[in-house]
Amino acid sequence: MRKTLSLKLLPSEAVSEPIIKQYIAQSASVTPSAVTGYNILKQSIDARGKQPWIHLSLEAFINEPYQEREPGTFTFKDVSRAKQTVIIVGAGPAGLFAALQLIESGIRPLLLERGKDVRARRRDLALLNKEGVVNPDSNYCFGEGGAGTYSDGKLYTRSSKRGDISRILQLFVHFGAEEKILYESHPHIGTNKLPHIITRMREKIVECGGLFLFEKKVIDLGLGGNRISSVKTADGHLFHGDAVILATGHSARDVFELLLQKKIGIELKPFALGVRVEHPQSLIDSAQYHCQVRGDFLPPAAYSWVQQVDGKGVFSFCMCPGGIIAPAATAPGELVVNGWSPSKRNNPYANSGIVVSIEEKDVQAFKKYGPLAAMYFQQSVEKKAFASGGGRLVAPAQRLTDFTENKFSSTLPDCSYLPGLRSVPLVDVLPSFVQQSLRQAFLDYGKKMKGYLTNEAVVVATESRTSSPVRIPRDPVSLQHPQICNLYPCGEGAGYAGGIVSAAMDGERVAKIISATYS
Ligand SMILES: Cc1cc2nc3c(=O)[nH]c(=O)nc-3n(C[C@H](O)[C@H](O)[C@H](O)COP(=O)(O)OP(=O)(O)OC[C@H]3O[C@@H](n4cnc5c(N)ncnc54)[C@H](O)[C@@H]3O)c2cc1C
Repeated sequence: MRKTLSLKLLPSEAVSEPIIKQYIAQSASVTPSAVTGYNILKQSIDARGKQPWIHLSLEAFINEPYQEREPGTFTFKDVSRAKQTVIIVGAGPAGLFAALQLIESGIRPLLLERGKDVRARRRDLALLNKEGVVNPDSNYCFGEGGAGTYSDGKLYTRSSKRGDISRILQLFVHFGAEEKILYESHPHIGTNKLPHIITRMREKIVECGGLFLFEKKVIDLGLGGNRISSVKTADGHLFHGDAVILATGHSARDVFELLLQKKIGIELKPFALGVRVEHPQSLIDSAQYHCQVRGDFLPPAAYSWVQQVDGKGVFSFCMCPGGIIAPAATAPGELVVNGWSPSKRNNPYANSGIVVSIEEKDVQAFKKYGPLAAMYFQQSVEKKAFASGGGRLVAPAQRLTDFTENKFSSTLPDCSYLPGLRSVPLVDVLPSFVQQSLRQAFLDYGKKMKGYLTNEAVVVATESRTSSPVRIPRDPVSLQHPQICNLYPCGEGAGYAGGIVSAAMDGERVAKIISATYS
């Protein structure tokens, strides 16, 4: 017999197979030995009360042989002799999942990536962190796997309408992620594990006959009438394909400039900008779990919040429990922070972006740049942050209570950000409407979470690459650019995704439409 049931367990019970089997046996009125096994369908933590609980939804096998969860099945074809070739510019989650989907449809992907493979990319990240040197083609945003590779690897998305989330998670498992991402309410892979998974995806693409080329920065598009016939890379090569998927991410400013210069329609898109705040993880744990010490059975606690300040949205973004603040700039002279965490989330800090929504009316001073106004506004704040830090990616920072009281911080706490911090009043770095909204939002949220508003926390500027400040339009049905019928804007950079899973889903969606059109 198979039985689906829900259990509410203490954290210590939820990690014990014998205890879970006992509960299953109790609920089915059988002896524990009759329970041959179980698969977890859903797992979540409820930490609202004094005692945190783990909720499990299970499929149990009683008096019948246990069967492991069915793995996802994928039909990757040999596309080495395929009639159609689709050029994919950018090997982030959108580009990679588009390539895998094309292969399943029998179309040959040709991936052109400006950055390096994950291994070579690691050396550039070391230089970024240790010397503050930014390689504009190889950094936290650019290179194999895109911004997703050395990201935090949180796979939670609210975009369930945009595609099949479970298929994306199954694909991650197929390429080496742990099965638990299939049932956890907030699945997370971790920066240490993502590079292996991304490498295995590339190996599969190449094994199937797809082409995957690194250090191929696309710098021009060959246009004829309403079609794109080729793309040109910085090393002078021309590549031809039946269609082009443009999946270059939110940080490829040169691509947006190229589109504008070619008179290919692009639009200003609202985005969000602010700071990253870092607390001791133990402080967040005791606030969220209502305890002195978290104990061994609960994961490092997370938080998320949204506030409205004078009609402006202020919200937490990409919270990384047990994480590290990373330098995520893509060009010299700019300072951008983001966050990541290893799979165990075992660093002593909890960081989160806290950002303010930026709309067209907020970037009026940049309106001469037309659809790139928000992008240039974003860049101007990044440049100011860089200059305020004094160079080498040292970030301007202020203690949290000092920030809300507009006081200079005479010292700064230890921080995970490797290039280092410099005490700077952030009023000198952030646009005034941003810092005023942040200040009020911190004060408001400080009343809700005990201990949050503290000088043990540090505010680091600037978190600016939350989503794309530009949209590349596309027809809602054919997904083609309105002017160029075989150009498919895709993923976060084009404005159709925000995060790994939604970018991956968008890549699949575009690839499916192309397959239907060309096969
Ligand atoms: C430090 C960090 C942590 C993050 N943590 C999370 C997280 O936990 N969860 C989550 O969901 N999201 C996270 N994100 C965001 C996530 O990584 C992105 O949303 C996602 O990668 C977007 O996918 P994409 O494929 O649309 O674009 P990208 O990942 O940005 O990929 C674009 C690719 O295009 C390439 N490219 C750009 N221009 C050119 C060109 N001219 N020619 C050739 N190639 C080009 C780039 O090198 C890049 O590889 C994080 C990001 C960072 C930086």
